[in-house]
Amino acid sequence: MKRCVLIARVSTDRQEQQGLSIEDMQLPRLREYAQENDFIVAKEFPFSESADQKVRNEFLASLDYVKKNEIDAVLVFRVDRITRNYRDASVIEDLIKDNAKEFHFVDRRLVLHKYSESSSWDDWALDVFLAKRDINRLRGYGLATKNTKLKKGEAPGYVPMGYENSGEGRNKTVVVVEEKAEYAKKIFEWYANNDYSARQIVDRLKKDYDFSYSHSSVYNHIRNQFFIGLMYDQQADMHYPHNYDLFIDEDLFYKANARLNASSHTRKKTSSKGTYQGLIKCAECGRTLSPDPKKGKYFYYRCVNKDRPHKIKAPEQAHLDKMIVDILKDIKINDKALGRIRTILERSIESNSYDIAKIKKNLNKQVEEQDTMIKNAVKDRAKYGDDGITMKELQNIRHEATAKKNELMNKLSALARVENDKFDESLSLLELVNKGSELYQLANRDEKREMLKLVFSNFTWDGNSLDFNLLEPFNLMFECKQSKVWLRGKDSNLRPNG
Ligand SMILES: [Zn+2]
Repeated sequence: MKRCVLIARVSTDRQEQQGLSIEDMQLPRLREYAQENDFIVAKEFPFSESADQKVRNEFLASLDYVKKNEIDAVLVFRVDRITRNYRDASVIEDLIKDNAKEFHFVDRRLVLHKYSESSSWDDWALDVFLAKRDINRLRGYGLATKNTKLKKGEAPGYVPMGYENSGEGRNKTVVVVEEKAEYAKKIFEWYANNDYSARQIVDRLKKDYDFSYSHSSVYNHIRNQFFIGLMYDQQADMHYPHNYDLFIDEDLFYKANARLNASSHTRKKTSSKGTYQGLIKCAECGRTLSPDPKKGKYFYYRCVNKDRPHKIKAPEQAHLDKMIVDILKDIKINDKALGRIRTILERSIESNSYDIAKIKKNLNKQVEEQDTMIKNAVKDRAKYGDDGITMKELQNIRHEATAKKNELMNKLSALARVENDKFDESLSLLELVNKGSELYQLANRDEKREMLKLVFSNFTWDGNSLDFNLLEPFNLMFECKQSKVWLRGKDSNLRPNG
């Protein structure tokens, strides 16, 4: 019989600790799998991270144990229990390829061994990617819905002072908050009618309303056309009308802006932080290109190697944007990869519903037990009075049973949430691949950088073209005949031409 170890892990995330509980969920499931498949369990490694203690070292020690002992297989609930980053993933790949260990991911019935088919490795690559969780943060930005929202006249996120997001789901809207709207309006009045400086406005806000606002916020506030019914989308350089109530008089708005435009504070500063800062290397010397903001809206990336001067044409930010968009357009899911993701999604529904149903049943049973305990205590009290059970004892029992019951109910709902998140991550990946180029165009600087780091690595610029690596799993999906990983970017026809 084969010998195995069980590895179970939860992070500090409270939801994860409840929903993917080591004791309630992971270990029982792994033990069951071991039994079904005739494994001898040599050792169990449960890891629960606390806020002040990361368990990565202990975790690596457990893999070391596997390496050095007569262990054939490692059983894990699913890929994200064992790898949170590419470093861990490669340690595991080494164990499989160099040390001939097997890894069984129980939830998807994915087994990896030295002779696994490439489709299994592709499944693994996708799961490793999803385990990184960054993708969920992207979804959090709501990039995908931003455009649709703007077109429908809805604010995609941030609303200026005086407004507030309210409601949930379909009833989500933006409302005017009276108190804040009052100071939002005062700012316009002070600036337009009283000739206040921004500094004076900051002080007055603090004094009258105990409200802290920065100097530059005051200018941005006055410029913000949301107050006259328009939302500005910087990426598209477009204005969209919104549907919400207005409380600033249009004349007042324009009067304040006229004063602002006449003053010297209005010149828009080019951000000194470029989108591609630190991300592109010079092909000649390997140095990172430095952003060089020029007057106006141009933003070049130059190699400033003083020891070894060489001239390569500096790419301009807008052209880099265009190149990235073109690459992202090329990242289309091929049918094979699409089929694979579908299968993964379907399998995850099946296996999850199997596991969840089982755990739910167990938890529900425990809830019932608590109920029965209370009922019986009440019966005893009714039948025998103080001889059966005292009032105090009855209260205690009820108290404890209710607390226990609440805890169980929390576990049940956390379980459902964790599983939903997992599913959503897979869908987000599909969305990212399908709409990557559109999302990129809508994204702001930070969002762009997140996307770049998620999809690409090793950008190099040689004066004409951008070389790059695609990270897994995008390299599996890129439609390109020559090479899967290392691809030549678009050529010199994208250079600035005047
Ligand atoms: Zn250089």
